[in-house]
Amino acid sequence: MGGLAIGSGGEFVVMAGPCAVESERQLLRTADAVAAAGARVLRGGAYKGRSSPYSFQGLGVEGLKLLAKARERTGLAVVTEVLCPEDVSVVAEYADIMQVGTRSMENYSLLAALGECGRPVLLKRGMTARLEELLHSAQVIAASGNPNVILCERGIRTFETATRNTLDIGAVAVLKTVSHLPVIVDPSHAAGVRSIVPMLARAAAVVGADGLLVEVHPDPEEAMSDGEQSLTFDQFREMMRDLRRYVPISRGCEDACLRAFAAEGAAK
Ligand code: PEP
Ligand code: MN
Repeated sequence: MGGLAIGSGGEFVVMAGPCAVESERQLLRTADAVAAAGARVLRGGAYKGRSSPYSFQGLGVEGLKLLAKARERTGLAVVTEVLCPEDVSVVAEYADIMQVGTRSMENYSLLAALGECGRPVLLKRGMTARLEELLHSAQVIAASGNPNVILCERGIRTFETATRNTLDIGAVAVLKTVSHLPVIVDPSHAAGVRSIVPMLARAAAVVGADGLLVEVHPDPEEAMSDGEQSLTFDQFREMMRDLRRYVPISRGCEDACLRAFAAEGAAK
């Protein structure tokens, strides 16, 4: 996408931004901050499939327009979730990467519709899905005409409740072995609390993931969704700095894989 390759074995691509697009000010401030710290893709949900019907459901098309505005301002690519087949065309109009959430991994009509959307798809693992099932879902998208699928490990449901989900780091190793598809890790939804997100990010970098999807918010205490697991700008900058030491461990190609981080300071 516009010179950015994910899963090429080169750059470790960090996608960062708020869980949900809440306002212009919130999104643009976050976009500026994550771009300056070396992120290459801006995340932010305009359509939120929340577990509770009483939770914030997102700004819809208004949110998509704000994401496009942030892209224009920063040069970041945009990843955002699509919840149903009916929304595929409008989301594809604004997004560079179409996100399929954990609750939608088995929504086969959505997956089939994404086969024709003309955009790469970031496919999150269902919270109770086996890897074979994740790969079957990826194949539904591919068989429908779209080979550009990015797999995302975001933690699974286990008996353990100390973290929101259990980050299955072994899944990254397996997926990198059995599939040619790029694999990224979402440490935010796995952790559930911001204090341990950077440690899980390190693990992802070392095991050989192709990038990260991370939640960042200007004022996490006031976030309309997932504030507890959202990093502050300072924490995100610190995490990016820390990753400079860990990304090369699995890559053995310091120059290429650190290109993203070289942007720090250069951008705004
Ligand atoms: C998200 O990325 O904000 C999200 C809803 O993730 P998941 O589908 O993994 O819960
Ligand atoms: Mn979230």
